[in-house]
Amino acid sequence: MVKLIFYGGVEEIGGNKILLEDNDTKIFLDFGMSFKKRGLYFEEFLTPRPANGIGDFLAMKLIPDIRGIYREDLLEHLGRKAEEPDIAGVALSHAHADHANYISFLHKDIPIYCGETCKYILDAVQEQSQRTIENEVIDYKKRPIFRRDYGKPTIKRIFKTFRTGKKITIDSLEIEPIHVDHSVPGSYGFIIHTSKGSLIYTGDLRMHGLHAEMTTDFMEAVKESKPIAMITEGTRIDREKSNESENTVYNNSKKEISQCKNLSIVDFNFKDVDRFTTFYRIAKDLDKKLVISFRHACFLERYHKDKKLRTPDSIDENILLLKPKRMTGTYIGEDYKEKYIRKRLKHPNLITAEDITKKPTDYMVILNFWYFNTLIDLKPNNGVYIHSLSEPFNEEMEISYERMQHWLNHFDLRFVQSHCSGHICGLDLRELIQTINPKILYPIHTEHPNMFKKIPTKVEIVREGKMYKL
Ligand SMILES: [Zn+2]
Repeated sequence: MVKLIFYGGVEEIGGNKILLEDNDTKIFLDFGMSFKKRGLYFEEFLTPRPANGIGDFLAMKLIPDIRGIYREDLLEHLGRKAEEPDIAGVALSHAHADHANYISFLHKDIPIYCGETCKYILDAVQEQSQRTIENEVIDYKKRPIFRRDYGKPTIKRIFKTFRTGKKITIDSLEIEPIHVDHSVPGSYGFIIHTSKGSLIYTGDLRMHGLHAEMTTDFMEAVKESKPIAMITEGTRIDREKSNESENTVYNNSKKEISQCKNLSIVDFNFKDVDRFTTFYRIAKDLDKKLVISFRHACFLERYHKDKKLRTPDSIDENILLLKPKRMTGTYIGEDYKEKYIRKRLKHPNLITAEDITKKPTDYMVILNFWYFNTLIDLKPNNGVYIHSLSEPFNEEMEISYERMQHWLNHFDLRFVQSHCSGHICGLDLRELIQTINPKILYPIHTEHPNMFKKIPTKVEIVREGKMYKL
């Protein structure tokens, strides 16, 4: 018998944690952080207490209470003894936090199966972020009750990576990962060959990106497998058509930047390689240098390892690394800051904010809102700020957005929105489903599951924690 239980991604965008059981084999499809559930109770300064292990996460129902999946050091805080892992593995679709981050809590002996590039990205994320209990995907430091034992030793998780076309076997289950187009490279959908027939998991995908053909490859292979069931994302089922594309982002942004008589600042998610490529192209076309941070360099150096992505290295002639100013707290303090910065301080292509102010039109600086205090050094009066990210969709984002506007006003920066989504639109999704024609459809990763009822396919509106038998 094949059973499915959805522990996340139900009436919410992300947080996917799907338990699949086929006879004696149990696996999870993704094990992500739910931003929505977390945001109901917690924010920047009100957080789950790491000293309580996973206690706060369980109490507030941010993660399911299942035996045989969690780290023994985190169970200790609950008075629970170490539990033998009862899960044969996690098939991870891609490196976004809402699919990957709560792997941090899982038992060290549960192997993680993911794309090769997905692993590179997870490595880059871990290299440049401060270690917290919620981002210990690659490795973790033990957090026993007695703090004097903290961090000894660092425990590495087992990763088994694949590329498209390679089949993986987890106990009795054979899984075919097939590349899909999404806003992060190394994204996959899965054909899972269960004892009842093929089960499909789309992960996150789209048809309007630079590599739509990858999603078409997925669709064709899935159709061939005559699926008995499909778990699909539905982030934008309520948006009929995508009239945005990576090319529109390129054209609009290029026009704005070419007209700018001062410094151009761009903001996008660096996990999105297509967006990086777009701005890298613009910089080259307009004969400007693209200035990135040491954080970005961690990603770029990993992307460069995947020759298929055709991205430059961090020491490329069109790239400069912004060396943070002295007396800004960058070179002191926690280990993590020093390590990834110190490692790159001898790079040949460093530039300071002061150098940039001498001839601002020569540069395009990639700067995220969380690092806006760098504007104080860049002094970008009358420049342009290209916001190449989605618009705010919750209250917390609205507050940051307002704060961002204050900074822009202060420095007379012109605001330009230029973005295209990582998710498939309603029209394309309906077409994809109808082409694949699964016997039953489980829509997740959406706030509008009921909109799927309009599709002429049997649809199961998923309830969290309920068991579905195939
Ligand atoms: Zn995603």
